[in-house]
Amino acid sequence: MRREKLRVTLPAVIALGSNLGDREATLRQAIAEIDQLDGVVVDEASSFYETDAVKPDGIDLSAPAYINAVILVRSALNPHELLEALQRIEQAHDRVRVERWGDRTLDLDIVTFAGLEQHDDTLTLPHPRAYERAFVLAPWHEIEPRAELPGHGPIAPLLAATYESPRLFARWSS
Ligand code: ATP
Ligand code: MG
Ligand code: MG
Repeated sequence: MRREKLRVTLPAVIALGSNLGDREATLRQAIAEIDQLDGVVVDEASSFYETDAVKPDGIDLSAPAYINAVILVRSALNPHELLEALQRIEQAHDRVRVERWGDRTLDLDIVTFAGLEQHDDTLTLPHPRAYERAFVLAPWHEIEPRAELPGHGPIAPLLAATYESPRLFARWSS
């Protein structure tokens, strides 16, 4: 008789961003590394989109532009374990934190986790700024057009209300 270990998995949405180095290659590697995490499976990945950098004072055309993507995962890790795993992947890609929203090789944010709404010192769910970010909503809408952001409703009207327009940079399969 086959014995299988049952593990409860919950759906989560992760946003990826990079504006230093080989941005698309870094995001592709990060997606593979997330898929290789024990207890995490990547079900779907969006295309790659390019967006001007945003700094605390607004759009910064002097900073390198971002490549962003969104993935849908199933996670047997709890939200904090997933965040820690994502932060280890960021660090392995030489992520350094100097200034707020400073240039970075890799940013991995948890957009939603199983519809949870919770907040503590290290983790806020859903991500508190996802609802107004075209660079999150556009790739997410591509792969899950009927998705809803807990506390904010369907993402389609949220995307329509944003001002930035991420440019399609590369297809996932290219
Ligand atoms: P932003 O949060 O505006 O996208 P950022 O991604 O550049 O900015 P980071 O420096 O990557 O910010 O993260 C700062 C802290 O945010 C992390 O140390 C982490 O503890 C916290 N954090 C809170 N909620 C989340 C979340 N949903 N996903 C990722 N990090 C989160
Ligand atoms: Mg971020
Ligand atoms: Mg982050």
